[in-house]
Amino acid sequence: MDPLLPPPDRHLDPRRRQGLRIGLVLLLVASIPVAGIGGLTYHGVRTARSEVQGAGRVEELALEAVRLTNLDGAVSDELVWSAIDQVSDSIDAPETMIEAFLGSDPTDEVAAATDRTDQLLAELNAPSIESAIRAARVDGLDRRQVVSRYVEVTTTVHLALRTVMIELAAAPHRANGEFPTALQLLRLAVEARAAVSDEFNAYFATIFDLRDAPPVELARLVHARAVFDERIASLRAYGSGIPGLVSALDDVETSAGTATFSGAIDDLIATSLHDGLPDVSATLTIDMLSDHLDTFTTTYRAAAESSDATIGLLDATAGAVLDAASEDKAAADGDIDVWYVLAVALALATAASVLLASRYIIRPLKELRRAAVDLRSGELEATCTLAGPTEVRTAALAIHDAASHVQLVTRQVGALAAGDLDADVLDEPAPGGLGVAVQYAVTTLRSALAQQEDFRRRLAHEASHDGLTNLPNRSASLAQLTRSLARTSRAGAQVAVLFVDLDQFNIVNDHHGHQSGDAVLATIARRIVTMVREGDHVGRLGGDEFVVVAEPVTGIDEAFALAERIVAAIGEPIELPSGAVTISASVGIAVADGLLTADELIRDADLAVYRAKAAGRGGIEVCNEDLHAQVAETADLTIALRNAIDHDELVLHFQPIIDVPTGRLHALEALVRWRRPGFPGLVPPDLFIGLAERSNLIVDLDRWVIAAVARQIAEWNDDVDLDVVPVAVNVSRRHLAHDHFVDHVLDPLAANQVAWDSVIVEITESALVDDLASAAMKLQRLRDHGILVSIDDFGTGYTSLAHLRSLPVDILKIDRSFTASAMSSGHDASIVKLIIDTGHLLGATITSEGIETEAEADQLIALGSDHLQGYYFCRPVPADEIRFDQKRDRVVG
Ligand code: C2E
Ligand code: CA
Ligand code: CA
Repeated sequence: MDPLLPPPDRHLDPRRRQGLRIGLVLLLVASIPVAGIGGLTYHGVRTARSEVQGAGRVEELALEAVRLTNLDGAVSDELVWSAIDQVSDSIDAPETMIEAFLGSDPTDEVAAATDRTDQLLAELNAPSIESAIRAARVDGLDRRQVVSRYVEVTTTVHLALRTVMIELAAAPHRANGEFPTALQLLRLAVEARAAVSDEFNAYFATIFDLRDAPPVELARLVHARAVFDERIASLRAYGSGIPGLVSALDDVETSAGTATFSGAIDDLIATSLHDGLPDVSATLTIDMLSDHLDTFTTTYRAAAESSDATIGLLDATAGAVLDAASEDKAAADGDIDVWYVLAVALALATAASVLLASRYIIRPLKELRRAAVDLRSGELEATCTLAGPTEVRTAALAIHDAASHVQLVTRQVGALAAGDLDADVLDEPAPGGLGVAVQYAVTTLRSALAQQEDFRRRLAHEASHDGLTNLPNRSASLAQLTRSLARTSRAGAQVAVLFVDLDQFNIVNDHHGHQSGDAVLATIARRIVTMVREGDHVGRLGGDEFVVVAEPVTGIDEAFALAERIVAAIGEPIELPSGAVTISASVGIAVADGLLTADELIRDADLAVYRAKAAGRGGIEVCNEDLHAQVAETADLTIALRNAIDHDELVLHFQPIIDVPTGRLHALEALVRWRRPGFPGLVPPDLFIGLAERSNLIVDLDRWVIAAVARQIAEWNDDVDLDVVPVAVNVSRRHLAHDHFVDHVLDPLAANQVAWDSVIVEITESALVDDLASAAMKLQRLRDHGILVSIDDFGTGYTSLAHLRSLPVDILKIDRSFTASAMSSGHDASIVKLIIDTGHLLGATITSEGIETEAEADQLIALGSDHLQGYYFCRPVPADEIRFDQKRDRVVG
């Protein structure tokens, strides 16, 4: 694992925390209503089922109630006929008479009544009633026993009826249905019918003293009568909606039987209240019976009729109960259907909801999840369709945005990694903390890289440019020239290299200070730049040397013209705080020939400028075949000169220096010549000193000269006849700069035991400008030994007279150019006079060199020169030609 990556957050890792899928959640949520619907449906269906079953039971119970009521009537009939049969048997009346009274045979009537009872009993499963009836039908009972046993049957039947009614009331039924009302009405009808039965029983029990005491029976009769009236009134009051009930009530009230029976009862009650109750406890007689039987028959038939009328009530109310029950059953069945339909509808609705949820919630959520997983796994193309609920859309949008932001940031980081800080994508700020961080990083990196680039450019510039003039330096110029050469060689064009060297620039430093020198260099650099064409290269090679690469040029002429413009521009006066200065410059030109390298071209231009300088200030020289030949020659010459020093091919000539007042030999100057093998005569120093001065050869040459001079003096000293004079030795600028210069002078003298003051050291004025302090110190050391110091070629350099004060100088040698011009120019004569006077003031003696004529000698003498040197007196000659005793009389005076 990448150690830079943070360990994965265990809580955020979906593999570790497996949450519930939304589908499962929805299924769980949907299962709650489904379970509810199931439970409710089950409960509703069960309730409805029990109601249906209840309705079935009600039907049975209602039928049972009707049957029991009918049984009640049958039992009453059986009672009456059994009682009459028993009575007729007990009075022993002839059967025909009784048949005549009654209109039928009581024994047949009993049998008929018994059949009916048994028939009804068979329809009922009522063992208690059956046993009660068997007990009533036993033979040999008196009339009271018969009646009391049938009354027992009636009581049992009534008990059964009441049980049925209670069971009916308890049967399951719909609370808001017709059932309770119908049941109540059925009860009233049953009670009304029972009341008729009670009336009948009590009536006959009263008349025939068949049961309890007649007053008790009469009271029962009155009560039964009240109950009947009350039940009939209630039925009429509440049963108007029951089909058939009203007509049944009308039948009961308007039937002749009812009227007759009621009238009989009314009569009995009225008679009893008026006459007292009939005494029937006495033994029944035929007369009595005939009276009673007439009444009995009439009343019995009326009672039977009335009783039959009440059956209509029972039928109507039982029908109502059955209707209500079947209505309940139908309603319950309907309920079941409703429950089923409801359950199916709700199940369908739930399924539809789940489908909808799946379509509009689960699917978008799954999409969302996939996009989130993609995003998590770094799949940045993760896009999810913007569908589904608002929350999902918002989340999808967030994921989409997050993905595109991460994509943006990724592209930005990619651009950063590729280092493409200018990429457009980096200017698109990504929202959020990450975007801010990236923007911050971009800004920081940009500025850091910009700084780095800036720094690098500056370094490169500094490495390739000169700090003072801001021009490309030597190496940059070389590189530029190399590129130009490559370009032009392809294009067939020409490149010119101009080597610009300022003439005697050191004088500016010495006279105006280094700051001014720097300002002059900068000014000159600007002037050169303005002179060249755009595209041409200007560089500083170092010190006071500049280079111009002109590309392309048509030829030498164009390069020469450019050099002239540059020389002219540099030659314009430059204003300094200390006054205006004028600098001249020499230019060397080299033109590429397609063969030379950049280094070689610059070397050629350098050669040319060297030649130009040799020709004088402000010169322009072109490096051509001659120069090349010369260079080759110089190379050969250098080797030869080296050889000459080592093999003593050099010879010394000496030129006398004459003392003005005495005309005597004052000193000698040693001048070197080269006896070069294969060359005629002696090679003059002008032809090889310059060459030697460009290398360390000059040091060896000088040392050879000093040693030779020391030996020569020692040789002369050995000749006691000779009045030896000091010998001046020329010392070059490079040698003076050498660390061991002083020793190089002293050692040969010491080695040859030559007195210090027998030597004069001649230093050219221009040799002093390099490092005046160091030179002065070395020269002073020589003077401390007694060696005289002479400044050669004085007047040609720029050593101001003021500088002379700080120089350890014994002799000033005025250059031949002054000596000559002092003759023709009064102005130059006065300068020579000034030099001489100043030199004298500084304690130096003045030697005028290059005196070729008597007039020149005279003028220099007149101007105050102390010593004279020149061809007029004597050319440089070999040592053996020196005559120490010579005297020029003409000089004196
Ligand atoms: P210099 O030191 O100025 O020497 C004087 C030069 O002027 C000599 O030339 C001499 O021959 C010449 N001369 C003398 N009188 C006259 C005159 O009346 N008219 C003309 N036209 N010339 C005159 P030379 O010997 O050819 O030396 C030339 C230069 O070579 C010297 O100039 C000196 O700078 C250098 N040189 C000569 N010998 C040595 C040497 O041993 N060591 C060094 N370092 N340089 C030397
Ligand atoms: Ca000299
Ligand atoms: Ca000289």
